[in-house]
Amino acid sequence: MHILLVEDNALVASGLQAGLGLQGFTCTLAHTLVQARALQAQNRFDACVLDLGLPDGDGLQLLRQWRAAGVQLPVLILSARSALEDRIDGFRSGSDDHLAKPFDLTELALRLHALLRRSQGNGDASPDTLALGPYTLEPASGALWHGGQRIDLPRREALLLAALAQARGRVLSTAQLHDSLYDLAQEVESNTVNVHVHHLRKKLGADIIETVRGLGFRLGAAYCSSGSAPAHAPQP
Ligand code: CA
Repeated sequence: MHILLVEDNALVASGLQAGLGLQGFTCTLAHTLVQARALQAQNRFDACVLDLGLPDGDGLQLLRQWRAAGVQLPVLILSARSALEDRIDGFRSGSDDHLAKPFDLTELALRLHALLRRSQGNGDASPDTLALGPYTLEPASGALWHGGQRIDLPRREALLLAALAQARGRVLSTAQLHDSLYDLAQEVESNTVNVHVHHLRKKLGADIIETVRGLGFRLGAAYCSSGSAPAHAPQP
């Protein structure tokens, strides 16, 4: 389980990293909001432990930005600011849990485990991700994961792929796919679905989407399985 640990106090951070390491967590450390933002954008974490007082701003700022951008990463706030109104502020900003400093490491580990259980829905893929064979797609962010690598898809390519993944091998007509990409009010070129399919095949391989002549498109057979191992690299 990979934790993004946002903490500017070097002593607390190294203690947490070592302590959580013993409990089976892998921690990647960020000392500032800027570092945390960059790490989150480039990696897939299972949860975040977030300090609030950071050298370049308030942790809640980052949390609100993430939630506004659709980032669903479970966040536990670990802070000395733990009066009732602080905790309420945290939850309103999108946190999932709160633990006051000073804290007990065992309690932190147990809370993280509980958070992960909830976010993973007892081991099923969380609803914000879709499995496509070796790929995992996050439709909200357009991130497609493959063997620990992140591929960023433009929004409409991600939506098209999500529609095909949800159809699980059923054929979708060009009109159906078109509707999943655009508001009815929007006028667009009639060949846009074909253009997006072309781009996706170029990026991910020709067999990702099958053309069913006269009917439409469906997800390639090799990508319809959802029971495969997670696409991102398992954490030690
Ligand atoms: Ca701090």
